[in-house]
Amino acid sequence: MKIAGNIACPICSLSDNEFFLSGRDYLSSYTRRFTLVKCAGCGLIYLNPQKELEDAQALYRPDYYRSVKKVSRILEALFLQERKGIVEGSGKSSGTMLDIGCGTGEFLKIMKAGGWETAGVDPSEERNKRSTDDNKIYSADLMEIKFGEQSFDVITLWQVLEHLPDPDRYLAETHRLLKKDGILVLSVPNINSLQARLSGARWFNLDLPRHRWQFTPETLQKMLDKTAFRLKEIKHFSLEYNPFGWWQSILNLLGCEMNFAYKFLKRGVVQKGGSPAARFYTILCTVLLGVPLLLPAFVLSFIESALSRGGIVTVIAQRRPEEG
Ligand SMILES: [Zn+2]
Repeated sequence: MKIAGNIACPICSLSDNEFFLSGRDYLSSYTRRFTLVKCAGCGLIYLNPQKELEDAQALYRPDYYRSVKKVSRILEALFLQERKGIVEGSGKSSGTMLDIGCGTGEFLKIMKAGGWETAGVDPSEERNKRSTDDNKIYSADLMEIKFGEQSFDVITLWQVLEHLPDPDRYLAETHRLLKKDGILVLSVPNINSLQARLSGARWFNLDLPRHRWQFTPETLQKMLDKTAFRLKEIKHFSLEYNPFGWWQSILNLLGCEMNFAYKFLKRGVVQKGGSPAARFYTILCTVLLGVPLLLPAFVLSFIESALSRGGIVTVIAQRRPEEG
């Protein structure tokens, strides 16, 4: 008999798992802990149970996505160029593309300007209200849209898969939507990265309970295998994510309030925390160490990348030829 709320592994369907780690939601003042388990069959690490996640609205408050316009406009442009470079470095330089979890469509705009025919999907209505280029951004779940078979040359999922209740179904759908020689580009946090292993429950990218699946390159490959994709390339360096992941994780490890700087940079405001002393310590640490920690964060990102242990990994995969 299955325990209520116990989730079976989406890769191998086993419900047999062991405790891996527990942590709190850094966006919430609740003290409850969320548990990650490791599948006894394939090693996938995932949030279990996931019953509480039904109230998705509470987890994805509109400001979860807000990006700071003034502070990060230049950085954002740089990061979008990095993404474009990854897509175009995969051997496709034009055609049709779909960005799943496209937010306000910033990446689509860059690609469209580069000659791509673009479409985006994002179920958050709030974000679509902010979108200035709303043609071909679908405010719906991918599964509801029913794009035609083999519609796209490229499909991208930037930090999306780890959020989805049923990632294997989504991958199967992207397989259906991709042209025969189409390319899937996706990035996910790597729980086997150096920054993850060093930081434990203080890791910036843990993001409990929003990240349901904590992949490693091995388990991601297993899920791609299951959904008939062939792994073409895996990148362990991400300018967009990895230096910042180190930087924030180190501050977390020094005892700062969890992801305080990130919340401040992303949202421009942070809610009241615990004690005034803890808040004072966090601000002091961030102000004094913020700049000196930049260099180590970059160096560590290069080291983990050289060791194939990147904090965020980006995978390029192709449809496997149909069997039989
Ligand atoms: Zn499994």
